[in-house]
Amino acid sequence: MSLFFKRIVSLGLLALLIITQTGCGANPERKVSDSGFYLDTECTITVYDMDESEAAGLIAGAFDLCADYESKLSKTIEGSDVDRINNAGGKPVKVSEETLDVISLGLEAGKESDGAFDITVGRITDLWDFKAEDPKVPAEKDIREAVSTVGYENVKIDGDTVSLGGDAKIDLGGIAKGYISYKLAEYLEENGAEHAIINLGGNVVAVGTKPDGSDWKVGIQDPNAERQTVIGSTPAKDQAVITSGIYERKFEKDGKIYHHIIDPETGYPVENDIEGVTIKCASEDAGMCDAYSTICLLKGSAEGKRFIESKKGFEALFYKKDGTVVKTDGMDFEPAEE
Ligand code: ADP
Ligand code: MG
Repeated sequence: MSLFFKRIVSLGLLALLIITQTGCGANPERKVSDSGFYLDTECTITVYDMDESEAAGLIAGAFDLCADYESKLSKTIEGSDVDRINNAGGKPVKVSEETLDVISLGLEAGKESDGAFDITVGRITDLWDFKAEDPKVPAEKDIREAVSTVGYENVKIDGDTVSLGGDAKIDLGGIAKGYISYKLAEYLEENGAEHAIINLGGNVVAVGTKPDGSDWKVGIQDPNAERQTVIGSTPAKDQAVITSGIYERKFEKDGKIYHHIIDPETGYPVENDIEGVTIKCASEDAGMCDAYSTICLLKGSAEGKRFIESKKGFEALFYKKDGTVVKTDGMDFEPAEE
């Protein structure tokens, strides 16, 4: 969907929302919510305990901001910062501050994970089309070629420019949504929202507490059920709760599941014991939190748990393919009632 069209849809939804909420006055929580399709996923923003038309305006502003970030960070939007870097033939490209931020974070995540997380996987992820009507496993030769281009060491930041050596392509899909979710939280707070939930396709940031002062309870998606069905919840207050799973984007071919978390050494989806993972941390670390969720999916539950235990301020919950849950000591989790 084009950006323009998405905005129209989002404005349309918003108009509908305001109309439905002015009628009866039966909205004790003064809850205003809107959804839109951005960053290739369903995004929802809900603001509580605020003047309703002010809240609706803020939510619309947050979605505009989201579209703006997407137009800089997406590798598939022509003219985005990332697109310009990817097509500059190695020359330095002047980019926005946000793009510099996300790329620096991505490079840091690359170092911390010894290259398991690598923002230069773009040529590989280009080959795997999970949205095609009849998705195909790419040819082995194409995968080998794409794998040979990967290497985050080829990304150089100099002042406000980024250059990308070799024949690689940058893909910020494993980190951008987390980063943006915090930026939207910041925007809401700066403009007076005290209680809000931002959810960018499983990248949740809880702004403040619930209006009554208690913690939010953020649901953790059940990988094997319909959307909105949860395995349980974790309390959150000014925190990011980021869930990612191999169930998100996938297809099945000849009895084998292919999903969107790619081992940069092989070019194929990673295979281990995890179905989904949830990472929690302070809101402002949401960008790294998103990268860590991808890193955990790449590492498996035992190594992923050790990785998160070594990071101060981060907690993790792993939902394993055998249906069991493993978590770090500080991760509060309340299972859903059967
Ligand atoms: P989701 O986008 O479903 O929330 P993630 O946050 O785990 O899931 O990110 C997955 C995305 O990260 C992929 O769609 C792709 O764009 C990118 N990606 C896949 N494999 C890697 C990798 N090894 N390193 C960095 N990014 C990756
Ligand atoms: Mg991620």
